[in-house]
Amino acid sequence: MKLRFWGVRGSFAMSGREFLRYGGNTTCVELLTDAGERLLIDLGTGATELGKTLMSREFSKGAGNLPILLSHTHLDHIQGLPFFTPFFIRGNTIRIIGANPSVGSTLEATLQNQLAPHYSPLNGLENLAAGVSIETVAAGSTFEVPGFMVTTAAVPHGSMWSTGYRITADGKTIAYLSDVEYPNIDDPLPVAVNLARDVDLLIHDAMHADEDYELRRGWGHSPARAGVVVAERAGAKKLALFHHSPDATDDMIDEVVSRTAARTAVPVFAAAEGSYVDI
Ligand SMILES: [Zn+2]
Repeated sequence: MKLRFWGVRGSFAMSGREFLRYGGNTTCVELLTDAGERLLIDLGTGATELGKTLMSREFSKGAGNLPILLSHTHLDHIQGLPFFTPFFIRGNTIRIIGANPSVGSTLEATLQNQLAPHYSPLNGLENLAAGVSIETVAAGSTFEVPGFMVTTAAVPHGSMWSTGYRITADGKTIAYLSDVEYPNIDDPLPVAVNLARDVDLLIHDAMHADEDYELRRGWGHSPARAGVVVAERAGAKKLALFHHSPDATDDMIDEVVSRTAARTAVPVFAAAEGSYVDI
């Protein structure tokens, strides 16, 4: 299985010379099996560049099939949806899979709202030319999409919940825990540790540098050290710090990586836009 980070930033997209190495687009991760099956996680602004790449393949001919897992519907995870070119080609089949938001609405209604005329000229999911299905999954469920086994877990994210994913393909497993803040940040919830049990790669929220966390407690995100504890307790083989703060420059992220790496034997790196990982 191969993984590519298309967007690694949290909250909102950034531009500027201090953000060039890790990238400014918000969350989007692509997984590819050895046989060529594809699965996306989240549709932040990083999805727009991926969409262009996919258009050089079967997606330009209306023959593309793509499942997309959403962690939740905060804007930094869905803002690429209205600009994801494969949606505009008739014949493509795109499945959007996620939990209903924990407050107030369904997944489908929430995504529809994003395309309402006040926000987007697309004016509704029904105007996307591709066949688009919205599928909801419950926390703790396991299901299959072509090439991948997926298990979900609900994790606390400020006033709501986000969905963590454990994904297996080609005999390798990753866990995706973006947008999470444990009630005790130094004692992560067992549900998160179990989701990441023995994974080859753990992608974990690292929105805050450890020293900034106290000022931002309760905002729904983790300091870098939380991912270390999850990785160590779960026996994860590698840790990717993810969902970088829009305030974090390349140099600041480098600093977080070196300080985080110094406190653990688990190999640590910061997810960088455009980079590949061989799982
Ligand atoms: Zn986010």
